[in-house]
Parts: sequence; structure tokens; C-alpha cells
Amino acid sequence: MRPDVLAADPAAEASTTRVEAEGLEGRELSPADKKARLVNLIAVVTPFAGLVLAIYFSWGFAFDWTQAGILFFMFMASSLGITVGYHRLFTHKSFEVVAPVRWLLAVLGSMSVQGPVIEWVGVHRRHHQHSDRENDPHSPHVHGDDEEHGVLTMLRGFYHAHMGWLFMGHSKGLGRYIKDLRQDEMLCRVNRQFLFWVVVGLVIPTVLGGVLTLTWKGALLGFLWGGLTRILLGHHIAWSVNSVCHLWGASPFRTGDQSRNNAIVGVLALGEGWHNNHHAFPTSARHGLWWWQFDPSYITIKALELVGLASEVTVPSAERIEGKRKKG
Ligand SMILES: [Zn+2]
Ligand SMILES: [Zn+2]
Repeated sequence: MRPDVLAADPAAEASTTRVEAEGLEGRELSPADKKARLVNLIAVVTPFAGLVLAIYFSWGFAFDWTQAGILFFMFMASSLGITVGYHRLFTHKSFEVVAPVRWLLAVLGSMSVQGPVIEWVGVHRRHHQHSDRENDPHSPHVHGDDEEHGVLTMLRGFYHAHMGWLFMGHSKGLGRYIKDLRQDEMLCRVNRQFLFWVVVGLVIPTVLGGVLTLTWKGALLGFLWGGLTRILLGHHIAWSVNSVCHLWGASPFRTGDQSRNNAIVGVLALGEGWHNNHHAFPTSARHGLWWWQFDPSYITIKALELVGLASEVTVPSAERIEGKRKKG
């Protein structure tokens, strides 16, 4: 495993890069892969249907602050579960946190419907290991077998990095990336309960919509806006980190890949769009390394530290940051 991808993990470190062992490219999909592809298709399409129905049922009504509030609350909670929990804590171990918060972050991340936590971590660690090279599960640069460069090739790469990779049996061969997490009883439990937490993530906005408006229609709209539409937004914003942030933006650091800092994704993805910074310093809890790079996920981690719930928050020194900058 490349140094710096996650905190010292001798088991992962010992397993050297054998790209052929990962078998992501050019193989037939197994029956299990096909089943996973169908499940992912349902998970991708259903939120779209939710948005269409949400607009249909809200048509002709004034802006609904209650539903907007539920959508915002659910989006922030589930997205921070991904950015702070799945990504910066479980994948990169960039800080420590007390057990109940650890559990809560795993649960909130599950509600985003981006897959069970351990599988998500495995895929993302593989992405760091092979960034923009063969066996990167979702690089926009290495997909396809033609050597042509053009708009069509770029769009095909974009689609593959954004969501196409979800239908290609990406979860095979992840074992070597997740050995440490398989020892973690709490994480294995939440991993197994994934579908249950997805349902809870749909029930909460439904109940909130009903209770806050005291109408059945309010409950339905809560489900459609705070449940399905919130999942849709979370999906495409998170996937933009994989697609947009490996195509467009600045790359102030030498990282050996095509990662980019993209300000729009930076803000929408709660700090995750400062992706060139992140590839340069994967174990940093802070992705927005300069004051103007808005990083609400890091603000959340600092707030947890301030009240004594988080510790050992890792941030690179000014010398390390300067040392990795591109010269000239
Ligand atoms: Zn990346
Ligand atoms: Zn990462």
C-alpha cells in the first residue's frame, strides 16, 4: 500500500501491489456481481423517481420551509457520516473519536446509501492505492480500451468514474484493504445492519414531515424530499469527488495522479472537493488546507475535539505542505 494512505497498517503494507490479483479489468461478471449490479441500479434509480414525485406533489405550492429544513438536516447528517465517518475516520484514521460517536458516524454514513461501511472503505483504499492507474475502481482516465483522446472518451471516463463503476463488480478482491476493519466488532455489526439503517434514514424524515405538519401529505413529502431526494443529492455530490475532482480544477501538489481541487465540489461535498490536497496528504483530517478552502467536515472534527469527543486530529505541518508543492 502506498505510504500515507492510512495510518500504519502492517498487514496492508505487507501485501504488495499485484495488480493482476485484483482482477478488475476485462473479466466476466459473476452471478453475485450481476445481483450487486441490479441492487445498485435500484439504489441509483429509485432516488430519481423520488425527486420526480417530490416535484409533482409540491407543484403549485409556495416554497416549503419545513421540507427544506428536513432535507438540509438529513443531508448534513448523512453526508457528515460519509465525509467525517466513512472517509476521514474509518478509511484514513485521521483522528480518534469516542465509541458512541464512532458508532453514530457509521450509522449516519449507512443512511447515505453508498454501501456498507467496510466495503466503502475497501473501495476507497483501493482508489488511493492505484489512483488513476489500472485497478483504480473509478478513475476517469484509465477506463476504456481505445487510445483516442476526445470529448467522447472524456465523457465515457466521466460516466465511468461517476457511477458506471458501480455496475462492474467493484467489490471483488477487497480483502487485503479491510483486514483491520474486520477485527472491529462494532463496525462489522453496523456493516451487517446496512439495510436496516437505510430504512431508518427514510423513516426519520417521514416521521419529521408528519409530526411537523400534522398531515399525511407532510409525511409523504418528508419521505420524498428528506429521504429519496436527499439520497439522490448525496449520491451525485459524493460521486462528483470521484469524477469531477479527477478531471477539473487546480493541482498545487505533486501526487502522481490526476486529482484536482474543485471549489464547487469542495463546498457541496462538505470539504471533500479539495481532492488534490487530500491525495497529497491522505491522513490529514483537514482537506481544505488554506483558510479560504471551506471544509465543514474538518470544522465538525475540530468541534468534536473541542468538546472532548475527538482526539489525535492529524494535520500536516507547514513544512510538509510546502515540501510537496509543485515548484515553478
Ligand atoms: Zn481521488
Ligand atoms: Zn481518501
